[in-house]
Amino acid sequence: MKKEKISVIVPCYNEEESLPIFYEEITKIAKGMKEVDFEFIFINDGSKDNTLKIIKDLHKKDKRVRFISLSRNFGKEGGMYAGLEYATGDYVAIMDADMQDPPSMIVKMYQEIKEHDYDCVALCSPNHKDYTFLRRTFTNIWYKLIAKISSTPQVPGARDFRLMKRKVVDAIISMKEYNRYSKGLFSFVGFNTKWIEYEISARVAGKSKFSLIKLFKYALEGILAFSTTPLVISAIVGIILCLIAFITIIVIIIKTLVFTDPVSGWPSLACIVIFMGGLQLFFFGIMGMYISKLYLEVKKRPIYIVSETEQDLK
Ligand code: UDP
Ligand code: MG
Repeated sequence: MKKEKISVIVPCYNEEESLPIFYEEITKIAKGMKEVDFEFIFINDGSKDNTLKIIKDLHKKDKRVRFISLSRNFGKEGGMYAGLEYATGDYVAIMDADMQDPPSMIVKMYQEIKEHDYDCVALCSPNHKDYTFLRRTFTNIWYKLIAKISSTPQVPGARDFRLMKRKVVDAIISMKEYNRYSKGLFSFVGFNTKWIEYEISARVAGKSKFSLIKLFKYALEGILAFSTTPLVISAIVGIILCLIAFITIIVIIIKTLVFTDPVSGWPSLACIVIFMGGLQLFFFGIMGMYISKLYLEVKKRPIYIVSETEQDLK
């Protein structure tokens, strides 16, 4: 009988220090899992260091190593999508290169799928102890917020690290949206998913590629992609303010006509005008963010552009 194959996708951006350690570890794991074949797909996401050279060297000595080098940095989401399209395995795993997702977990994930016939086994690290206090606090707030405003459930501390059956991968590939928030997409496609909790470890080498600003943008991406509640809130606030204005007008009219008591003072008026102006701009901003996403989607720009792959080396 033909052996099943697991494709391991590894998005890499300036990972020259972590890659050799990762490769050594994953090949050790692969050696232990004799019942399956492996392919390792490294995505060089426009790295500025020696990442591509290291990957090419790995490919020279181990033909299970395949790679896609993107024409520039497209972000982890673009890299993951490229890998998913490229993978040929019956199962596909996505893993970070920095060993924060321990490759050894793949053994357990594969076992779970085989024993219980799950479609997908995913990992979450709700405590994310290795991250800074600020990052942890914002992440916790974000998960609470998204649970309230989105109908797509998000598991707190979900990692991108998961092992999926081919049908799950095909479902994800079929979603070709440009503004990708994969954690949401994984959840959106459904399927029978088993969650395993683990304690995330520290990066083996190098620095995190996600600054607070990048994370903030990523969090905003998640909200804009999976919730339209901000638009509804702005409409509701608008209606409430209209009602308040209407009631105030009636009060003023009554005061003037019945009690002949003219309303005095321009400062209150100025405050109201400024408040209303600010609020309108704020809600225009929210609307604008959705429209800008729409604009980018309509352009149908590619999610990634390939510069070279291992096939170009032949
Ligand atoms: N990564 C990528 N492109 C980017 C940023 C990150 O391919 O623009 C990769 C990175 O090389 C790593 C993974 O995505 O393998 C996770 O990145 P990182 O460890 O920096 O993120 P964190 O663990 O801090 O969330
Ligand atoms: Mg990391």
